[in-house]
Amino acid sequence: MRPEPGYLSLPPSPLEPLSDAHLERAGVELWVKRDDLLAPAPGDPFCGNKCRKLKYNLAAAREQGYERLLSFGGAYSNHIAALAAAGRRYGFETIGLIRGEAVDNPVLARARHDGMYLHFIDRATYRRKAEPALLARWQEEMGPAYILPEGGSNDAALAGCAEIVGEVEKQLGRPADYLAVACGTGGTLAGLLRAAQRASRLLGVSVLKGHFMRGAVTDLLSDSAVAAEWEVWEDAHHGGYARSSPELERFIAAFERQHGLPLEPIYSGKLFYALYQRLQANYFRPGTRIVAIHTGGVYNRPRGAS
Ligand SMILES: *Cc1c(COP(=O)(O)O)cnc(C)c1O
Repeated sequence: MRPEPGYLSLPPSPLEPLSDAHLERAGVELWVKRDDLLAPAPGDPFCGNKCRKLKYNLAAAREQGYERLLSFGGAYSNHIAALAAAGRRYGFETIGLIRGEAVDNPVLARARHDGMYLHFIDRATYRRKAEPALLARWQEEMGPAYILPEGGSNDAALAGCAEIVGEVEKQLGRPADYLAVACGTGGTLAGLLRAAQRASRLLGVSVLKGHFMRGAVTDLLSDSAVAAEWEVWEDAHHGGYARSSPELERFIAAFERQHGLPLEPIYSGKLFYALYQRLQANYFRPGTRIVAIHTGGVYNRPRGAS
């Protein structure tokens, strides 16, 4: 029998308890689902929730006979870097259509290093990127490709993220009272919602400013049945996508010192900040069991830096 390709055979991520004075005072259990440790090799940008989201997309691309993957993102997109790394590792050509003027930064440099062909498109065209005529033109220019939407959030991505729920139930011995996750496009939250039981409540922390996340998640769910109640917190963006605040920076530094758990300011930092704010405001009843999904994003940080 041939071995399964690496993207299908990553082991379940660990589930680890946290403890500190805030949790003790509130009488709340907080567990971390360490998806930040998911990666075929340390330091690989194919990591975190991008392993979950790309898993069945890579399988579908291979099954459908594609040799090329094409997707979209901003200049700091973890999805783009992950796709490039996955392509290199598993033998696909990759094309990244990047929003805005041509720039260079460590994320894009890494994608290029992993063999991705980067093509910059102006913002007006980028907004129309799902139009069939544009997709056809790009494939004419760059070759037939398996196309993933921005952030990789499609049905196959949701199926990969849904697997987190079963892993957590097995590791915890029962469903969590709350499953909490940071939301960029909302694909990971939508995947969790597909599998979550009625016994759990889902919390999405939007890392973007605005009031569209609930709608975006609902759209991604399309017609799937959802058993769990869910809410989106829109007050934890710290100014918007990739923006930060002194409070957030201080929180992350203190959290890392106390727990030895790496966070970054774009996703996981905002998630834990929001959870601890609610915790201190007695939002959670004593005895509540929360599982926070650490979606990763810390691959490109020098070791030992905080
Ligand atoms: C991409 C990413 C997210 C956002 O996931 P969505 O499915 O788009 O909501 C969250 N955390 C990290 C670390 C990411 O890289």
